[in-house]
Amino acid sequence: MGVLASYLTGRWQAPGAGGAVIRDAVTGEQIIQVSATGLDLDAAMTYARRTGGPALRSLTFHQRADLLGRLAEHIRSERDRLYELSLRTGATLSDSKFDVDGGIRVLRYYAARGRSELPDSPVLFEGDPEELSSGGKFVGQHLHSPAAGVAIQINAFNFPVWAPLEKLATALLAGVPSLIKPATPTAYLTALLVEIIVAANVLPPGAVQLWCGSGSHLLDLATEQDMISFTGSADTALRLRSHPNVATRSVRFNVEADSVNSTILGPDVSPGSALMAGFVDQVVTEMTVKAGQKCTAIRRIFVPAVRVEAVARLLSEKLASVVVGNPRSATVRMGALASLEQRAEVRRAISRIASSGTIVFGDPDRADPVDADPDRGAFMSPVLLRCDDGAAAAHDTEPFGPVATLIGYHSESGLIDLCNRGRGSLVASIASEDSRFIQSVVLGIAPWHGRILLLNEEDAAESTGHGSPLPALTHGGPGRAGGGSEMGGLRGVLRHMQCTAIQAGPETLSRLDTHRNQA
Ligand code: NAP
Repeated sequence: MGVLASYLTGRWQAPGAGGAVIRDAVTGEQIIQVSATGLDLDAAMTYARRTGGPALRSLTFHQRADLLGRLAEHIRSERDRLYELSLRTGATLSDSKFDVDGGIRVLRYYAARGRSELPDSPVLFEGDPEELSSGGKFVGQHLHSPAAGVAIQINAFNFPVWAPLEKLATALLAGVPSLIKPATPTAYLTALLVEIIVAANVLPPGAVQLWCGSGSHLLDLATEQDMISFTGSADTALRLRSHPNVATRSVRFNVEADSVNSTILGPDVSPGSALMAGFVDQVVTEMTVKAGQKCTAIRRIFVPAVRVEAVARLLSEKLASVVVGNPRSATVRMGALASLEQRAEVRRAISRIASSGTIVFGDPDRADPVDADPDRGAFMSPVLLRCDDGAAAAHDTEPFGPVATLIGYHSESGLIDLCNRGRGSLVASIASEDSRFIQSVVLGIAPWHGRILLLNEEDAAESTGHGSPLPALTHGGPGRAGGGSEMGGLRGVLRHMQCTAIQAGPETLSRLDTHRNQA
């Protein structure tokens, strides 16, 4: 069994022997060891600051956008290799399309926005100068310039391709080099992505590096000009964001953490309607895509109390048709969780929720996977729970697997209260045709959510889906979800830049804005 190499200071470097043993999620076979022993993180950070940063900052937004576009095309031409390796993480082909093609789409999106909406200049002067003095001889304008540091990406295991590409797209367009630290369980897939990026030979040296293995030293080396973009659990986020060096040096720290997302069925939606069918389909999709290992997956299903029985029956019928097993098998709809450890973690979360509720579908301890050994692979049946609205565990616990909890609500205000007990979520969706209900619920829950999707019969066919973060829209949420924000169109780019207010006479200011001078 080999040891995974990291890509640092312009070359692939193998760590010392040992490290975490990573297994195939489907067969349990050992794949590779992941370790950072003996690798020089200090040298990597210096390389990014002295080589990658200056090279990217010397390019204009349009030139950086062109790099993104070329990179997207190259990765697309190699995506079959990523799909193939993804199978070992337990992902089906459609799961890995979500991850791989989703990541390519983000690169393309930022390539297009960079070319069409940012200047052909390395920096951005925002808007028009504003008059500051009564005589109009002194004005002010905001200048956005790339941070002179490193975009340190700390990623979760569940999106080994999309997450680094999404973070890379915004950092690169801003002119900031990236150091990617993948989560250990799926680091080998991110390493293949970086191998493809390096082979494309599109980016300047130092623009991207890969650090596999423990990242515990990363935060010690972060400085005032660096930006840590963390994706992972709320517990890890808390530990990292309270790191003394991060606090002392005010290191920018964006957190995308876990989230107990909701979907809501309006009181107007009756069994038998097309909207009810769309609602049920959406819940089952969210529970089973990537075996529920999506930060945006639906965890809480709120329905009018009188509809709980009917919705439980409809969901159970649909879940029973989900074929679990080896993602290489054509009939399989849901693959494995990322590891046996992850499955044990999900089972613990289910038993916490079940202690104040009941399981209405699925057995957490038993799966009959197609074409796979249930003991060696990390397979799990989808599990639907049901809880009373007062049960705390369903609102507090994120079972990071194919699991959701059905909760009945009795009133609109009660519903809003329950939904907000998630203490901040990435996304909620509402299925209803009743505009008064929708307006009241949206206004009630918006302060606690990063994104809200509204579903009705007319729009269902074109809905982009509850669980799909889109580059044009904010991805992030308040409170428990981390309080961060990624993507969101150009906002995601500006996060990597310093905004400086410049006060000067109009002539002086316009001489500074060389792009405007050329135009
Ligand atoms: P995790 O255990 O919190 O780990 C996240 C990342 O932090 C990994 O790369 C991990 O590296 C790293 N890490 C841990 N300790 C560190 C330290 N001391 N210094 C530097 N890095 C450190 O999360 P996970 O199990 O990979 O991912 C699942 C969680 O992520 C779920 O809760 C899910 O909701 C959340 N998530 C959120 C979003 C979002 O956008 N909001 C997206 C995806 C996932 P190692 O693996 O090497 O320990």
